[in-house]
Amino acid sequence: MDYKDVIKYCNNNKINIGQYALQIEVKRGDFTAEQITDKFIKMLNVMKQSSSSAADKPLYSVSKISGGNAYKYNQYQQKGGSLLGKLAANAVTKALSTAETNAAMGKIVACPTAGSSGIVPAAILACGETFDLKQDLLIEALMASSLIGKIIAETASISGAEGGCQAESGSAAAMAAAAICQLRDGSPEVCFYAAAIAIKNSLGLVCDPVGGYVEIPCVKRNVGGVINALAAADMALAGIISYIPFDETVTAMSNIGKMLPSALKETSGGGLAATKTAAALSGKIFN
Ligand code: SF4
Repeated sequence: MDYKDVIKYCNNNKINIGQYALQIEVKRGDFTAEQITDKFIKMLNVMKQSSSSAADKPLYSVSKISGGNAYKYNQYQQKGGSLLGKLAANAVTKALSTAETNAAMGKIVACPTAGSSGIVPAAILACGETFDLKQDLLIEALMASSLIGKIIAETASISGAEGGCQAESGSAAAMAAAAICQLRDGSPEVCFYAAAIAIKNSLGLVCDPVGGYVEIPCVKRNVGGVINALAAADMALAGIISYIPFDETVTAMSNIGKMLPSALKETSGGGLAATKTAAALSGKIFN
């Protein structure tokens, strides 16, 4: 799918990219618009649950190497101590909560993957709360994010094992950035600029989970991802363009993924997973 055609079609038909995503899914013929929308509503409800379950009370993973931080951060930001504005601090809480829920084997929506599942919900739900947006707008934003994910998956990869963490948390940040822009009435072109900027900010990020568990550094990378998405969306909404277009940015990500050694693609053979502390933590888990 050529993103320029998507922009052209959306502009000609006066629809946003979320509505375009729904139209192409309906055209596939497997589900009606109502059935697809119902699925998205169910996903949004799971996202709401996972983005608060570890923030309201401490939740720890089975390995015990991660957990408790969504609650800790939520307490801190609710007291007004955060360096960030309310929207961003709320998004950090939600990203941590979903990522910790995933690490604790709770129910999440993989978007695009379980490891990066905190980024899109945090962005959409935090914007929804801040700007008091109705559910149908949140659903359309989620559909917009799915279109970005689909294009990346077709051109490059959304798997850390194939493309490094840039393919997981970078793709999620791009999906979230486009969704945020749409929620703020950004044009389809602005949504794709935001997605391109978010990808550019994550290029080269390696996949190096400690002990092979999607916990360290994955949980905190969800925070990096949503802050990246918010900043990318804000820049695009301000009229800042990405000089490297979206499709070339995705191709660059794909090429970088191919150049990465396998030690940095989910094998836990390099990066943070190969540190002294990681070895000690892994030893503790396996003993
Ligand atoms: S480090 Fe690897 S496993 Fe963890 S979120 Fe990134 S891509 Fe996924």
